[in-house]
Amino acid sequence: MDLKKFIRDIPDFPKEGIIFKDITPLLKDAEAFNEAIDRIIEQYRDTEFDYIVGIEARGFLIGAPMAIKMGKGFIPIRKPGKLPAEIISKDYDLEYGSNKIEIHRDAISPGDKVLIIDDLLATGGTIAAAVELVEELGGQVTGIGFLYELSELNGRELLEGHNVFSLMKE
Ligand code: AMP
Repeated sequence: MDLKKFIRDIPDFPKEGIIFKDITPLLKDAEAFNEAIDRIIEQYRDTEFDYIVGIEARGFLIGAPMAIKMGKGFIPIRKPGKLPAEIISKDYDLEYGSNKIEIHRDAISPGDKVLIIDDLLATGGTIAAAVELVEELGGQVTGIGFLYELSELNGRELLEGHNVFSLMKE
């Protein structure tokens, strides 16, 4: 199945000059959604990990089904002010602006191995911040996975030394 057919380009969203990769057609198609999740899972058959960490919000849509199918727990990284217990946070730059992400301080214990999952790799700022949060808590990132990668933005350069996989690229 050609999964790229289910990713729609929306020009000038959320700002002029950005081509937004809309994954909602893929989520809506039961077969395509399931196949996308299974193909990402396939990459991590031999990777050791205890939890999947997903990044709000679209990272939840990929990471949570993976966690259920792989029999692992799910840990959310969220936007500011959403997590109720004690948090640590990190500021970072986006392709279109800047932001902050947070994780519960007790979500990860030293030595825990995690896969970090998000929908899309652009400049890499978001995922690099997520890696820092996990490592600050003593976690070990054994894999980083995306549904889609915008290769020309070179986000991978921020992730050197990590095991990075993208299901689709352009
Ligand atoms: P970055 O930190 O630049 O790698 O941006 C990645 C985050 O921003 C991901 O969580 C994406 O959901 C979102 N994002 C950035 N650029 C785009 C884009 N062109 N289309 C869709 N989502 C994007």
